[in-house]
Amino acid sequence: MRALELGFSAVGIASVGPLEARLHYEAWLAAGRHGEMAYLASEKHRRRRAHPEAILRDLQAVVCVALCHDPDRDPGREGRLGRIARYAAGEDYHGVMRDKLRALQRFVRELLPGSRALWYSDTGAILERGWAERAGLGWIGKHSGLISQQFGSWFLLGELLVDRPLEPDPPLAREHCGTCARCLAACPTGAIVGPYQVDARRFSYLTIELRGPIPIELRPLVGDWIFGCDVCQEVCPWNRFAPPAREARLHARALEGWTLERFLGLDEAEFAQLFHQSPIRRAQRSGFLRNVCVALGNRGEPAAASALERALERDPEPLVRSHAAWALGEIARRVKGEEATAGARNPMLAALRRAAETDAAPEVREEARAALSMLNPDEATSFRSGSRQGTPAAPRR
Ligand code: SF4
Repeated sequence: MRALELGFSAVGIASVGPLEARLHYEAWLAAGRHGEMAYLASEKHRRRRAHPEAILRDLQAVVCVALCHDPDRDPGREGRLGRIARYAAGEDYHGVMRDKLRALQRFVRELLPGSRALWYSDTGAILERGWAERAGLGWIGKHSGLISQQFGSWFLLGELLVDRPLEPDPPLAREHCGTCARCLAACPTGAIVGPYQVDARRFSYLTIELRGPIPIELRPLVGDWIFGCDVCQEVCPWNRFAPPAREARLHARALEGWTLERFLGLDEAEFAQLFHQSPIRRAQRSGFLRNVCVALGNRGEPAAASALERALERDPEPLVRSHAAWALGEIARRVKGEEATAGARNPMLAALRRAAETDAAPEVREEARAALSMLNPDEATSFRSGSRQGTPAAPRR
């Protein structure tokens, strides 16, 4: 089959008709689990998801493809860089899928002269997993991802909407999660609130789509994930024998010489250059460095303190400075004994005090004060009583 020659790992054809996945989607929106992604709840978006014939008139079949994306793993790389969701380790999959789907689109148009075919891959209002499930590519697991008995779940999905009848493939007779519930138990942020129920607000969204601060109660749970999260898939037994990506563009970038601490020195231009054609650009520089601060805070290694102090002093983004303050507080909290309470002699505390007193952004001052008060409740009293300079004389930035 042409789709397999193009490098796709699997292909199936879905018949057209209402999907059960649509009901799940509406319930998910009604529960507000889409977070700040308001576009997902717009009337137009929902209508197109429910009625794909609004996208392609006379829609008669949905060709669904899967492309395995699991890169070669390098634990040393994760130690240096923190953890990045596997789909984001290499080139942006949108470009990879686009090239392959365009080739498949050309093939279908040649095979069926006069036909229309539109491709999608996380590029529009399509119930991708619902169509793939109907096309027999797998079943929707309790973590809400699609799982194949043959490939596990480390794969990307794409679709070709076609206005000609094509012989559909049968869906699987049943799902194969059975009594397993490993993904629910393993999710570090409790985002899988029940079987097939994922709350995006506590999910990969935190490190990718969220533009503001990561809620303080969730930061310790994020661990050292700096872009996305794969825990539910890592524990899934169906991934034990999942094949690696054959597509070289999806293999992990080396990022030789880079470390979490070094990421904190990236300016806008350097960030754009380093992550050119990488999914990581979606987090934007401020969101990515926010994530790096949280990872360093959770690791709690004193060796990261000077890079965080520099970020707290100099980063132009309050979002980064406020998370650097939180991370310094976490590290200082773990430094035992006299060093932790050595006052002015401790550069971490000195940096936090300067930020608490003089940072131009109120949210940074608040984060620094909160970090100091965690270390020493008397500090909070002194800020409240005004014995320190509670408001800055002049903005530093
Ligand atoms: S971990 Fe278990 S319950 Fe979760 S998706 Fe995999 S098989 Fe299903």
